[in-house]
Amino acid sequence: GLLTASLAACSSERASDDPTGGTTAGGDTGGLIGIAMPTKSLERWNRDGAHLTELLETAGFDTSLQYADNKVDQQITQIENMINEGAKVLVIASIDGTALGPVLEKAAEKDVKVIAYDRLINDTPNVDYYATFDNYKVGQLQGEFIRDQLKLDSGEGPYNFEPFAGSPDDNNAKFFFSGAWDILSQYVESGQLVAKSGKAPKTNEEWTSIGILGWGSDDAQAEMENRLSSFYNDGTKLDAVLSPNDSLALGIAQALESAGYKAGEGGDWPVLTGQDADQANVLNMIDGKQSMTVWKDTRALGDAVAEMVQQIVKGETVTVNDEKTYNNNVKVVPTNLLDPMVVTPDTIQSALVDSEFYSASDLGL
Ligand code: BGC
Repeated sequence: GLLTASLAACSSERASDDPTGGTTAGGDTGGLIGIAMPTKSLERWNRDGAHLTELLETAGFDTSLQYADNKVDQQITQIENMINEGAKVLVIASIDGTALGPVLEKAAEKDVKVIAYDRLINDTPNVDYYATFDNYKVGQLQGEFIRDQLKLDSGEGPYNFEPFAGSPDDNNAKFFFSGAWDILSQYVESGQLVAKSGKAPKTNEEWTSIGILGWGSDDAQAEMENRLSSFYNDGTKLDAVLSPNDSLALGIAQALESAGYKAGEGGDWPVLTGQDADQANVLNMIDGKQSMTVWKDTRALGDAVAEMVQQIVKGETVTVNDEKTYNNNVKVVPTNLLDPMVVTPDTIQSALVDSEFYSASDLGL
């Protein structure tokens, strides 16, 4: 009510950039919540951090929001600082989900609770909850989209197709790939999808062989350029590319463009998937250079996590809806799973603009 509102107003006035590049801000009463995010280089994490900070401050907490430039050691130091500063709860979107065991042991000694944000933290008992979008479903939606666009289930093909996968150190990436591959691998086996590069994994487990470490657009672009110049230089056209997310799709689109593919009416642009609804990718969708994105409304994830934090601090039962899927090699982590959604050029307005995720002018509409 009014009290929370006035606390929020006073806290945002006191928000300040600290020397380590993070932001600390405060609402005084609820205690400190540490938020560790992987990198500012990807649009979504900026949105995630900003939204969660705002919600927690409005609820009366102090916050420390830190970005680690995709560097594992930097993230560990940031988490250590949060523990030393007396954080009650840590919200962590990990860079390497297997590297946080020792620092989270320190958190456990001080009874600091840990929420894995978006990405699961593995190989440690000291992660209390997980909040994410259904990662397997993200991949499934991408696989189904390619299947439906190419009418693979009515036997059409053969089509030339190249698959990509996410960062091998990101626990989500294997779920994205499995979801897609459980739909698409049968069409590789039937010969309806042909990867001329030979880079279609034989099993779901082989996905790391085509993973792009660090999720970089440039690396995805280089890999796509490589495949195009080595295997498609005889004029063979590529019909579809499985990209697990938008940062990869951006690099892949760049490579397609350089190779002379044309978007729009009468063009030969391949079906290209993505994830996150990053602004540059939505603009590419409007230009016909990306076919879809799987949208995960980061505001909803922030809402869910802010609720979890408050429940933890008040000693209430924490909202979860999945207690079987996310085994981190030590235990099954109770999870609050949200629903991802396909956005295509036709639904940009209804999904992204009407919900105010973007304004029409952000997208030049
Ligand atoms: C997230 C995606 C994101 C990717 C790269 C994944 O863990 O779930 O939304 O595109 O990391 O940052």
